[in-house]
Amino acid sequence: MSQAIEERAKASELWSKLRFDPATGSVWLDEQRMLLLHTGSLGALRAELIRSLGEERAAGLLLRMGYHSGVQDAEIARRLVGKGLYEDVFLLGPALHQLEGVVEVETVSLDLDLDAGEFAGEFIWRNGWETQAHVSEFGVGDHAACWNQLGYATGYVSAFMGRRVQFREIECRCKGDPVCRIVGESLPEGERGEDLAPDNIASEIDAMAEEIHTLRRRLGSHSAPENLVGQSPAFLKSYRLLERAADSAITVLLLGETGVGKEVFAQWLHDHSPRRDKPFVAVNCGAIPHDLIESELFGAEAGAYTGAKGARAGRFARADGGTLFLDEIGDLPYPAQVKLLRALQTGEIDRLGSDRPQKVDVRLIAATNVDLQQAVAGGKFRADLFYRLNPYPIEIPPLRERAEDIPAFVDFLLARISIRHGRPVRGLTDKAMEMLRAYDWPGNIRELENVLERGVMLAEPGGAIDVDALNLPSSVPVSGMRLTRTGEVKDRKLDDMVRALPDLDLGAAEARMLDEALRRSDGDVGEAAKLLGLTRRQIDYRLKGRAESGE
Ligand SMILES: [Zn+2]
Repeated sequence: MSQAIEERAKASELWSKLRFDPATGSVWLDEQRMLLLHTGSLGALRAELIRSLGEERAAGLLLRMGYHSGVQDAEIARRLVGKGLYEDVFLLGPALHQLEGVVEVETVSLDLDLDAGEFAGEFIWRNGWETQAHVSEFGVGDHAACWNQLGYATGYVSAFMGRRVQFREIECRCKGDPVCRIVGESLPEGERGEDLAPDNIASEIDAMAEEIHTLRRRLGSHSAPENLVGQSPAFLKSYRLLERAADSAITVLLLGETGVGKEVFAQWLHDHSPRRDKPFVAVNCGAIPHDLIESELFGAEAGAYTGAKGARAGRFARADGGTLFLDEIGDLPYPAQVKLLRALQTGEIDRLGSDRPQKVDVRLIAATNVDLQQAVAGGKFRADLFYRLNPYPIEIPPLRERAEDIPAFVDFLLARISIRHGRPVRGLTDKAMEMLRAYDWPGNIRELENVLERGVMLAEPGGAIDVDALNLPSSVPVSGMRLTRTGEVKDRKLDDMVRALPDLDLGAAEARMLDEALRRSDGDVGEAAKLLGLTRRQIDYRLKGRAESGE
């Protein structure tokens, strides 16, 4: 019994990892979101599963459900490997199973060698909720029935050992034994357990888990063909415009902040146009020195400028028959704008140093993160070129306006990053995902990819990326009430305000909120804007209005 007492002590230490956050309607165990359920309701669901699906199928489901819990708890334990004896760290599993109110666990024997992947253990279960639920619903029968609990043991130990471990329930209260007793051992390398039922299910679990993952990924991006990701209304609005322009040769102007994926949109447009078999040539006008951009775009004859050794075709000529994508077109210097306009009007380009115009057939897609109209007003961009580029503008929303697409992006990007670095990861912890959704993403998808890339590097191989591995800027809300900037809670607060409406003066309320945000950000206007969910420009506008009215 002394082992059991030790495990109880360990369970009491684990209490510190359990956190109730009623303000946001959440319960956390370390970084996993948990749920307090009534055993009565879960028992009713369990009974219904058995009656409607048959015992074998229901057993499989319950086993898999337990398996997933076990794998998630192993995550907590694996993070502590190296910080104590393997056996002690391992016993967190039984302790967590107890803390979660599932079953009381007594260790009969335990022999594990993490490096060799060897495991052998025997445990006694008492007071299991599933045991009680089964006996009270179906009475004592002729076989063991603690499937959910057994799945947990299999999942926890297999994930902890990094190797399939098989558990069997050799005694069970459900078949009249005085206690439930399970034994588990690691299978020899490569062996899947032959005709033993639990092991068949174990390999089925793997296949199912794989399938669930694939389906989830597909669901998450079902309306986003190929590499365009998203199903948020903001994204779909842009996507529908894009779709309608695909068949034609109309010049498209993509508008949006840095990092929103303008090149991906441009590539998609090309891939879905009649020109898809011809070249797609992308040029970042902001990345080419001003004195070289004309020769880059239009080509140059030998000796046309200092350093031009031989004649070379420009990007326009290379895109002949296909699509030319000019990113950051607002950075195009004035003389190049003149030449570009001429090329668009006549379908001809002039190589530097040549007086023979060359015919080209190019579909142009341009993109910018600056306000071209403002650039026109400021004399930095030609009005005639602007109107030539602007017949079909498509606004690509920033990531913060499509937070619901973030999980799909995470799946998409993680798959890509894992392949790139040969490091598989098991997604994100719930907490980490919540943090991503609450963040503002000034650098948009590019920033998300960078953050995830770092996360993949810092996460345990095969483990999930947690909050620490994300390493987001400190302005991000991390816990408790600061998380109220997200989702439902924000909505609820808004509801409360709206209910107070008859007593509320909107102007005064806004002024008070502005003051409070400035106070909390120590007068940092950018930070205050973030707190209020405004852009820097919006808050500047309000402050200016206030200064003018002399408040
Ligand atoms: Zn049992």
